[in-house]
Amino acid sequence: MSDKKVRVRFAPSPTGGLHLGGVRTVLYNYLFAKKHGGDFILRIEDTDQTRFVPGAEEYIFDCLKWAGLEPDESVQHGGDFGPYRQSERKELYKNYAEQLVAEGHAYYAFDTPGELEQMRQQYRTDENPAPQYDNKVRMQMRNSLTLDGDTVHELMHSDTPYVVRIKMPDEETVSFNDMIRGEVSFNTSLVDDKVLLKADGMPTYHLAVVVDDHLMEISHAFRGEEWLPSAPVHVLLWKYLFGEDKMPQWAHFPLILGPSGKLSKRDGATYGFPVFAMNWTDPKTGDLTEGFKEMGFLPEAFMNLLAVLGWNDGTEQEIFSLDEMIEKFSMDRIHSAGAKFDYEKAKWFNHEWIKKLTVDRLQLLVKEVLKSKGIEVADDELLNKVIDLVKDRCTLLTDFYEQAGYIFSKRLKALIYLLFSRNGMMLKPCSSRS
Ligand code: GLU
Repeated sequence: MSDKKVRVRFAPSPTGGLHLGGVRTVLYNYLFAKKHGGDFILRIEDTDQTRFVPGAEEYIFDCLKWAGLEPDESVQHGGDFGPYRQSERKELYKNYAEQLVAEGHAYYAFDTPGELEQMRQQYRTDENPAPQYDNKVRMQMRNSLTLDGDTVHELMHSDTPYVVRIKMPDEETVSFNDMIRGEVSFNTSLVDDKVLLKADGMPTYHLAVVVDDHLMEISHAFRGEEWLPSAPVHVLLWKYLFGEDKMPQWAHFPLILGPSGKLSKRDGATYGFPVFAMNWTDPKTGDLTEGFKEMGFLPEAFMNLLAVLGWNDGTEQEIFSLDEMIEKFSMDRIHSAGAKFDYEKAKWFNHEWIKKLTVDRLQLLVKEVLKSKGIEVADDELLNKVIDLVKDRCTLLTDFYEQAGYIFSKRLKALIYLLFSRNGMMLKPCSSRS
């Protein structure tokens, strides 16, 4: 590893619930940073204003807090490389887009939505059902490569909307070394001319991620496998803007698989297990999707089960605390193949952690569960005894309610009191003050 300070980032677009795959990406970033004495940065990638979802950003912070994965730098934690919200960095990106155009690596495109649709219809074939804006069609479109200079100038200085697109080189091979997959290569002719700057002046993800990883001095860029097809665009942007030797080291984490391919929110609904870290309520529809936290998972167990979804330490060991994971984590023990999520196994981890945790730690969590069911516990001593008694029978934290909630339930106590007093027996009020 180079002697550059380790700086990693999680860069979510705040558009909804935080999927367990996202939390695993945070966890691996966090473990890597802490293992190498580095910093973990949280950057909010909110340049797509059409996907703005109120509350989604705060929700991400709440999830990380619950998981115990606090960033060193972020919108909430501050830092020397802010702003950490891309929408507040808008002015920064334009110059880079213009530099790319000036150097012939990008161009202005004026095509209207109607013209783009016409192009798709014109080039659609059985082999190519979704034609893209690429090296085969770009010279047929309305852009600064096909229009003369005066027209381009005129269009840009009238109110005509335009975007900036990367000009993918013809038949070049772009390669980079992925820390998990080794050398990965792409033929540039097969990649479309992605938009870099949109008509509203906002960058797209592709431009913003490269500019910000550079300005924030990110040493390692780790993200999910779904971003691998975008890598050639990013490698080229690095090469054109900052030099390939300055590029962070990349790693693309394996997909988390459900019963039918990539684990989705729909799988969760169909098979009855959570996929989000915490409860998420869609502000538009009001639909609630239950999270691991509210289902009764311990953050310790959640981190443990996520860590081993794609990583192991080379032994049979399955139970790891966060500190142990930091000590043992290494990128070369992450597999490139998808990791299958098994809910029964997830519950097994939780059960093991419930048995392992100290009563003091459990007490707080069990109190919270009981509180959510309307039961306030004031007698900690009694609660601790009860926890000790029933914890081996609990798989989820919510099981403590089923196993022991009645002991603290006021309604039940009142009922017993009533029954006993009806039968002429006097009952000394229970020692519990709850
Ligand atoms: N904004 C991207 C996302 O939502 C981040 C991808 C990356 O880490 O480069 O997943």
